[in-house]
Amino acid sequence: MEYNISNLPLNIHDKSPNVDVEKLYNELKNKLQGEVRFDDGTRAMYATDSSNYRQVPIGVVIPRNLQDIMITTNICHKYGAPLLSRGGGTSLAGQCCNVAVVMDMSKYYNKVISINKDLKLASVEPGIVLDELNKQAKKVRSDIRSGSFNTYTLYLGWYDRK
Ligand SMILES: Cc1cc2nc3c(=O)[nH]c(=O)nc-3n(C[C@H](O)[C@H](O)[C@H](O)COP(=O)(O)OP(=O)(O)OC[C@H]3O[C@@H](n4cnc5c(N)ncnc54)[C@H](O)[C@@H]3O)c2cc1C
Repeated sequence: MEYNISNLPLNIHDKSPNVDVEKLYNELKNKLQGEVRFDDGTRAMYATDSSNYRQVPIGVVIPRNLQDIMITTNICHKYGAPLLSRGGGTSLAGQCCNVAVVMDMSKYYNKVISINKDLKLASVEPGIVLDELNKQAKKVRSDIRSGSFNTYTLYLGWYDRK
């Protein structure tokens, strides 16, 4: 579905007046393999986290891979667009809502890369949810402790099962 950016109610973007939202959208759309969603519904959905704060984002990017993340960073820099990453969106103080391009890592960029029991080291893509990581950690009788619905930003401790 194509969106006519110029018809969107973009008054919220007055807060970042130097961003050419239409050009930003078009370049992201042309260059990314992942999803570029600047429609009202998506922006409303990503306007909050688990807090009471609300800021309607410029738009949302759902990267497929590292290359998408790097391209998004470069394009946002080019247009002077604020950019933030988002995992589970469970932060409690508005950390992952802003008048910015929001990159949601949780949909595609969420794999376990490796688990090393000896080093007590798990290497993961940042969108992974803890429960998914623990499914794989349990195969080596380990447990990584935190809330069950946060993505990687909260992981705290490693527990070896006897
Ligand atoms: C019910 C509940 C209970 C909780 N209990 C606790 C608790 O006991 N102890 C505790 O410490 N916390 C607790 N929290 C808060 C928890 O710490 C946060 O929810 C968590 O840090 C956010 O993790 P997230 O992966 O969902 O990140 P998000 O909420 O998606 O993002 C959090 C911050 O990290 C940034 N970020 C996300 N991904 C990236 C990335 N790839 N690169 C750079 N920056 C990134 C975001 O921009 C944002 O600033 C609780 C939250 C809830 C909802």
